[in-house]
Amino acid sequence: MKHSRASRAIVIVSALALTVSLAACVAGPKLAETLQPVSTPAGLTDSDGYIPNGDTLTLNSDKPAITRLDPALLSALRSADTAAEDERGISITITDGWRSKQYQDFLFGQAVQKYGSEQEAERWVRRGTDSAHVSGHAVDIATADAMDFLNRFGSRWGLCQAYANEIWHFELLTTARGTCPPMATDGRG
Ligand SMILES: [Zn+2]
Repeated sequence: MKHSRASRAIVIVSALALTVSLAACVAGPKLAETLQPVSTPAGLTDSDGYIPNGDTLTLNSDKPAITRLDPALLSALRSADTAAEDERGISITITDGWRSKQYQDFLFGQAVQKYGSEQEAERWVRRGTDSAHVSGHAVDIATADAMDFLNRFGSRWGLCQAYANEIWHFELLTTARGTCPPMATDGRG
């Protein structure tokens, strides 16, 4: 009996599925590893403070995005994290911390492509020479709960939301139990 076109297609698809599942069995973790990008197209890595989209870091991470933060900022964040865990069951994690100048310049370059000119890009993203992330004085908080906690209680450790339009971006802007300065309006990452 000749296979119809449809049943032939089914045979091919099943054979493919078997091959893929066999490969997954054999390759196992290695396959998963290769799916995880190790760098961006610009060649940025952990050592630039690069954190792939969707990833977050704890404040105890040994990656440069955390370890190269200003020690006073990191210490304030860790104290806030302990209190947030104890009082609310919230942990403070970040999507961005210290960035190399190359990483910030890469972000600026992407903005130039997106907005069409350097002049327009400057309204949205800072250059590598002009960013609190590059000097290690800023973090971007990962979760809404943690942002809310820091927004309400961060000043206990001197932590303040720096820009009205960036609810995730925090810096050490006052002393412990001090008063946060008014938020600036021109947050640019
Ligand atoms: Zn930021």
